[in-house]
Amino acid sequence: GPADATALLLSRVRDVPDHPEPGVVFKDITPLLADPAAFTALTDALAEISLRHGATKIVGLEARGFILGAPAAVRAGLGFIPVRKAGKLPGATLSQSYDLEYGTAEIEVHAEDLTAADRVMVIDDVLATGGTAEASLRLIRRAGAEVAGVAVLMEIGFLGGRARLEPALDGAPLEAL
Ligand code: AMP
Repeated sequence: GPADATALLLSRVRDVPDHPEPGVVFKDITPLLADPAAFTALTDALAEISLRHGATKIVGLEARGFILGAPAAVRAGLGFIPVRKAGKLPGATLSQSYDLEYGTAEIEVHAEDLTAADRVMVIDDVLATGGTAEASLRLIRRAGAEVAGVAVLMEIGFLGGRARLEPALDGAPLEAL
């Protein structure tokens, strides 16, 4: 059942202390990706969440959101849209900057990939501060599309990402497996 699936997924995530810098516990999903039963269970769960919330497209956040979002999109029969770090996409883009602890970051999407007819599920591996996901929701809304929700494997609760995302979600769900 669902509890067994969650236990399998969690058993395949490796905690790496002090990576990439002291004090951070990095959640490494590469053991999960290397285990076909776990990767399939995660793909199926993300596809099911996307369809349950009426998504018509899946946005994956660079880079691990690509690895999880693309197979979920294929599984669900939905289109996949990459949201990338600034300067990578070749076509006309919408871009959104957001604050980091020190400085700012910027993400982009191809403007033609999202329209008012779309309802979009955002997928990533880890919700930390929520800054990246929040910026992606702004991009989706600026493109005129609707937000179906955000789905992640893990949420690092004490960083407050859920609270930061709440206004941008505007009632749409945040699902953490
Ligand atoms: P944030 O914008 O703070 O929510 O961070 C988002 C991005 O950074 C996500 O795409 C995550 O993949 C990555 N990230 C942040 N913190 C961690 C962590 N402790 N372990 C693994 N990935 C992380």
